[in-house]
Parts: sequence; structure tokens; C-alpha cells
Amino acid sequence: MAEILLSTRGLSRDFNGFRAVDDVSLDIRAGTITGLIGPNGAGKSTLFNLLTGMLRPSSGRVTLKGADVTGLAPDALFRKGLGRTFQIPRPFARMSVLENVMMAPVAQSGESLLGPLLFPARVAAEEKRNRERAMAVLEFVTLAKLADHPAGKISGGQMKLLELARVLMGDPAIILLDEPAAGVNPTLTGILIEKIEELNRQGKTFVIIEHDMDFVMRHCDPVIALAEGRVVFEGSAAEAQANPVLLDAYLGS
Ligand code: ADP
Ligand code: MG
Repeated sequence: MAEILLSTRGLSRDFNGFRAVDDVSLDIRAGTITGLIGPNGAGKSTLFNLLTGMLRPSSGRVTLKGADVTGLAPDALFRKGLGRTFQIPRPFARMSVLENVMMAPVAQSGESLLGPLLFPARVAAEEKRNRERAMAVLEFVTLAKLADHPAGKISGGQMKLLELARVLMGDPAIILLDEPAAGVNPTLTGILIEKIEELNRQGKTFVIIEHDMDFVMRHCDPVIALAEGRVVFEGSAAEAQANPVLLDAYLGS
């Protein structure tokens, strides 16, 4: 079996006495596309927020590539190879699509206060490299022709591709996607899936929250189900499809 890239042990998070994530222990193996399912309010997004440092756990641990990363901030986790997108994308609406991608957090010496004054040529060269990399990433997600459009003016589905582009700038080993297909038209969902599977073949690991069971069963393996903050199922997509409780809860309706 492949190495464990990301794992949790006894992970919990309370909001004013309400336990949104309850004693979750799971392992995400390198090279998988893991599907995370569960009804609304099950704690999926909260779990993502705990994994990506947006929220601190009330108790429990998170481990990335064997190192304890519990409580690290999102940018520190991003530098360690963990990228994520949001359920509701929020690009800088008035900036162009290209500028949004160029602003994604990657190591940049041009960001230091004195860098531009002391090393203008180096900064210009880096800016050029960054721009070229951003254009290449936009090309990959099929948004190159929208590079100069204001990011606030593109469709919801294109915003999801833009989010993926921003994440890819950091070249993360593992990418967490929160409902990538929700509200996206079938054409763009098709492109998104194609890109996810291409990146996965190149070795990237994905964890995907998705409501669309058809999407999960076709593209995710293994599948983890949450309900009321707890893991209620963990297994292959085939096992998920044969599980009567899951069938009832998610597939029957
Ligand atoms: P899911 O993504 O599975 O739909 P969430 O993780 O968004 O579920 O929410 C799980 C539960 O935690 C819900 O009952 C939600 O209302 C609650 N919750 C999430 N975030 C907060 C918060 N910041 N403050 C209080 N309650 C929250
Ligand atoms: Mg959610």
C-alpha cells in the first residue's frame, strides 16, 4: 500500500459546545483521489478547515508526511505541500484572472520590503518567471483565453478552475477540493475531472468533498462518509456502492 500522506487521530472541533467534528481518525494515502461524503452539516468543510489550518482542533492531531502539523497556519501548511480550494470561491473580483493566479502564495523574494530596491533585475526576472508559470497553469486549466478578464466576471465554474490554478501555483503534493462540481455546468465539470485525473496520474493526491454521488462513485476511491461529525464508513467505491446504509442515506434519494 502507498505511504500515508495525511492523517488525523482523534480529531474534534467544538463550536460553543456543539461538536461539529467528532473524534475523526483517518489516513489519506499518496496517489489516491479520496471522496469525502456526508449530508449537509456532517462536518466535511469543518474537517477541511482543521486539515488546512483554517481552524484549530479542540483536540486531536493532524500529521502531514509523517510530521505533526496540528495547529500550523494555512500558509505554513501550503509551503509543506497542502493546497485547498473553497466551497465558495472568492477571487479578487476586480483583478484579472492572470493577476489572481500570480498572487497565489509561492515563494517570492520580490515580496520582501527591500528586495525590489536592492535587486531590481532579479525581481523583474522573477516576476517574468511567475507570469510565465501563471500563464502555463491557466493554459492547463483551459482559462488562458480569459487571462485578462476581471476575475469577478467569469462564471462560477470558471472560478472553480481559477481556484485550482491558484492552488497549482504552489505545486502541492495533496489538494483538498470542497464541492468542485457544485453549481458547475457539465462541460466545465468534465474539464475539471479531466484535469484532476491528469494531475492524479502525475502523482498528485486529492481529497474531494462532493455531493454528487455519481461523481464520487466514478472518480473517487476510497470513499469516506461522515455523519454528525463522525466517520460512519470508510472503504472502496465498490464497497460504498454495496453498503445498504450509504445507499439509503445518499444514493436512494
Ligand atoms: P458540511 O460541510 O458537511 O455541510 P460543516 O462542516 O460546514 O458541514 O458544518 C458542520 C456543523 O458545524 C454544522 O452544524 C454547522 O452549522 C456547524 N458549524 C460550522 N462552522 C461553524 C462555526 N464557525 N461556528 C459555529 N458552528 C459552525
Ligand atoms: Mg460544506
